[in-house]
Amino acid sequence: MTETKVCPHCKQLLPLTAFHNNRSRASGRDVWCGACKNEARKAQRKRVRDAKRAARALLPPKPKTQKARRRPLREKIVVPLKYPQLGDEAWLRGRICREFVAAEEVAEELGCALSTVYAAMQRHNVRSPPKGVRAALRARVLQQKQEAQG
Ligand SMILES: [Zn+2]
Repeated sequence: MTETKVCPHCKQLLPLTAFHNNRSRASGRDVWCGACKNEARKAQRKRVRDAKRAARALLPPKPKTQKARRRPLREKIVVPLKYPQLGDEAWLRGRICREFVAAEEVAEELGCALSTVYAAMQRHNVRSPPKGVRAALRARVLQQKQEAQG
């Protein structure tokens, strides 16, 4: 005959094997059956979870995240130009497209890198004529200047 025991929670008469081992008890088994014990444990975990959630809701809200505090993208940061002439489209266009000065010479004139001049040209959509053409055009401009001076 298999040993049985009544679970005081669900009041069922169950075989002893339905009760978990528990060495701290004289019987060597839990008081409640395994199913009741598992359910009780689950309910207890939920109570703790809900209590923590409720406590959190009472706390002041957390400071906003790093992302939300970041400067909005639309706000432009104005950095003063190191070479103000390169920010002046009319000046740059005059040098490159009317006087036909080479970008290299503009860089030398301003004391900046050639790439800085190219970047400014790209920004203002200023295009230098092809090398040979530019030189010829420049020679003509210089000649006209000299003729005008007498
Ligand atoms: Zn039970």
